[in-house]
Amino acid sequence: MNEIRCGHCQRLLARAVFSKIEIKCPRCGTFNIQSAVSAMPERPLSVESMINGKPNARSGF
Ligand SMILES: [Zn+2]
Repeated sequence: MNEIRCGHCQRLLARAVFSKIEIKCPRCGTFNIQSAVSAMPERPLSVESMINGKPNARSGF
């Protein structure tokens, strides 16, 4: 679990497990972007996993 804090006012924005997060501080309006690159080793995407992926993953949002 990582704490996401505003880079400007240090307000605690969230606690989360993430690979990349973009969040706007509601207090000062600073747009914070953080990438968790050190926590876990990256899993390389294989061709097989892409074929077996669900085709409807993009629906919604
Ligand atoms: Zn802030």
